[in-house]
Amino acid sequence: MQAARTGEDRTEIPGILHLDMDAFFASIEVRDDPALQGRRVVVGGAGARGVVAAASYPARERGIRSAMPMSTARRLAPDLVIVPPRIDHYRRVSAQVMELLHTVVAEVEQISVDEAFLDVRGAQRLFGPPEQVAALLRQRIREELGLPSSVGGSVSRAVAKIASAQAKPDGLLIVPAQRTAAFLAPLPVGVISGVGPRAQAGLEKLGVRTIGQLRELPPSTLARVLGPRAPKIARIADGTDRTGLGRRVRDRSLGTERTWDEDLTDPAEVRRRLTVMADDVARDLRRRGLIARGTVLKLRSPDGTTITRSVTLEQPTASGERLREHVVALWERERASMPRVRLAGVRATHLERHAGGLAQSELTGRSAGWHELEAAMDQAVERFGRSSLARGSTVNPADPPASGHGSQRSAERPKLD
Ligand SMILES: [Mg+2]
Repeated sequence: MQAARTGEDRTEIPGILHLDMDAFFASIEVRDDPALQGRRVVVGGAGARGVVAAASYPARERGIRSAMPMSTARRLAPDLVIVPPRIDHYRRVSAQVMELLHTVVAEVEQISVDEAFLDVRGAQRLFGPPEQVAALLRQRIREELGLPSSVGGSVSRAVAKIASAQAKPDGLLIVPAQRTAAFLAPLPVGVISGVGPRAQAGLEKLGVRTIGQLRELPPSTLARVLGPRAPKIARIADGTDRTGLGRRVRDRSLGTERTWDEDLTDPAEVRRRLTVMADDVARDLRRRGLIARGTVLKLRSPDGTTITRSVTLEQPTASGERLREHVVALWERERASMPRVRLAGVRATHLERHAGGLAQSELTGRSAGWHELEAAMDQAVERFGRSSLARGSTVNPADPPASGHGSQRSAERPKLD
């Protein structure tokens, strides 16, 4: 294998892998209930306003996609099997997947519940070239967890992610450095993370649909259509990008704060408000393509006493559910000392880029590797308003709608494979 030759430039080894579980939630449900094998299975809410969070491949054959209203999915497939989501269960299986990856590869960057980038360039002596490491990982996930996954490999994370999508379902595709440009040439420009609907429309006007065509554009034209991210996208397109695993985003934070006219005294009410705020912050993170390694709770009593409490997260997250758990736990500890709450704030800290190294939020709203269910929820919130699917315990029509988020409309769906 050419990549294994000693003395070869390490940056030319296609050892940046993107591992992505196939139809993760749906695959778990099928694994756990063999009667579902081969059927059109979706995970999601069955109610009138339910949305599809994940769809099995047989369901996708009918055009069913996540973030689609369940009523539409039902129309497309009258024989649809709808399974209610078991988020905690998926999270446990996710942890098993990530643990398995860590037993083989030292450098793992988890970017969502079912996706990770791996750098296996240093694993050659132990496990062989990237193809072999990738095959081993897929085989172990299949044998030990009973689940299908796909892996793409390249000299850059952007191309690895494109390759894993091309390999689906249940496939493996490693793109050698010198094959990168040829591999990308016929693909539509939209497969590049960061080239959203608006950029695609702009390129379309120039007659540019494929990455090969994009490559022909002069840099000045590209900059006009794509803005500041043009050079990065040009490097991806011509196969010279070498971005590996993620870099840290410098200690930025984002959050929300609310003051109430009346003191909150009912613990259930405080919990509910914090849940809504955690969800808002998490949505903001996902929109910006960020994950948080920490969270901070701020509380103020009617007499002005203010406390802040923070926690470091074992695993970075952009999940409202995870943030809520931590924020509510922090509050439970302070409850006795602050029985009346006038102001509360929830903040996500120690932010990191989710994937790709591109600030995706301001571009397209698309972010590689969102938590699938929450991404589906984000879209439903935009479409129907929050009350359509707030988790049972958080439904509270009195809460004002989310504010401060631009109404960035996107025809794209979150990645769900
Ligand atoms: Mg997936």
